[in-house]
Amino acid sequence: MKILVTGGAGFIGSAVIRHIISNTQDSVVNLDKLTYAGNLESLLTVSESSRYAFEHIDICNASELQRVFTVYQPDMVMHLAAESHVDRSIDGPSEFIQSNIVGTYNLLEAARAYWNELEPKRKSVFKFHHISSDEVYGDLPHPSDSVEGLVVSRELKDQTLNTQHSKLNTEEASLPLFTEQTAYSPSSPYSASKAASDHLVRAWQRTYGLPTVVTNCSNNYGPYHFPEKLIPLVILNALDGKPLPIYGNGDQIRDWLYVEDHARALYKVITEGEVGETYNIGGHNEKTNLEVVQTICKILDEQCPISSLSSSPNTQYSALITHVSDRPGHDRRYAIDATKIERELGWKPQETFESGIRKTVQWYLSNQEWCQRVLDGSYQGERLGVIV
Ligand code: NAD
Repeated sequence: MKILVTGGAGFIGSAVIRHIISNTQDSVVNLDKLTYAGNLESLLTVSESSRYAFEHIDICNASELQRVFTVYQPDMVMHLAAESHVDRSIDGPSEFIQSNIVGTYNLLEAARAYWNELEPKRKSVFKFHHISSDEVYGDLPHPSDSVEGLVVSRELKDQTLNTQHSKLNTEEASLPLFTEQTAYSPSSPYSASKAASDHLVRAWQRTYGLPTVVTNCSNNYGPYHFPEKLIPLVILNALDGKPLPIYGNGDQIRDWLYVEDHARALYKVITEGEVGETYNIGGHNEKTNLEVVQTICKILDEQCPISSLSSSPNTQYSALITHVSDRPGHDRRYAIDATKIERELGWKPQETFESGIRKTVQWYLSNQEWCQRVLDGSYQGERLGVIV
């Protein structure tokens, strides 16, 4: 099978391509514009494979998209290319509208024209898989809010925030989770642009019969994550002795999904998922941002004590935590109900937050060169043979 992956030089796309090349016999065409978030160095372990090809293309370029479909004749599409950073969408929404909405429209049209011409057997197996976010649903009640007229007790709040499988506890606390039926209510330009692209994909299925499947996932973390995002930013700032910024009081709750678990889930969905369906993908790991940062600090205290980096022998990394003004429109809680993909496709996350975050910190400690080349911008300079 040949899979066209858009955004394959990004954080999740590169994990998907590493998964496919390393664990299956399928081949991949990686189509990526190489924005600041695209890094071909995240694919060095698989890019020499004869089953891998790269096309340096913007999904806003309709004629180039048409050429790629004609030349490569893919069996399936996994669409991950997008502008993905919420803060950047607040500072400058225009790129988000272009890539996430107009780009998705162009890709749908190119896929539809190609799919219409396929011979019946290939036509019947073709799938267009759109990868989206749980942020399209807006936010959920937080343990510190009142639930059904009752203020959640302090004890329940602590229980909800501190346990590993907090889904059980949120159920006990009657705190809802996002399901595939949750109504859309995006808060930021990023999530609004993703919501718009989800609607386009479903409309192309309903109106033109294009076989599509949509997944909405929670916050990913893991190796090769661009350091503007919370977890890599905190690890790298800590190692550099810089402040660890936390929005507001840090009580925003996110459900964390290890990126390699997500890559396995996406491959399950493209190969076994039902056409026309939506699957929510989450890690059962509700954590406050403050808990995430404190956990990273504790692991670094064990693995790489700050005393080995500075002259202050008793300092711990948590001393670097700095609260900064909250992001406008900041959603307070996201949490995914992943029952459907678990029940129907037999997927489950393999990592708990505790195991995944340890692997992640260890990866950043062992891959300082990758980090350094991202931080000093040199990953963009050479583009590994691509002229920019
Ligand atoms: P990322 O920002 O790391 O990577 C995005 C990739 O898309 C980059 O390689 C970039 O060069 C490419 N790209 C951007 N605009 C393009 C364009 N116009 N044409 C071609 N390529 C373009 O993003 P990510 O974290 O890997 O996210 C991948 C997808 O998953 C996105 O659609 C995102 O909305 C979604 N998602 C991400 C998360 C998360 O936690 N990272 C959570 C939910 C959903």
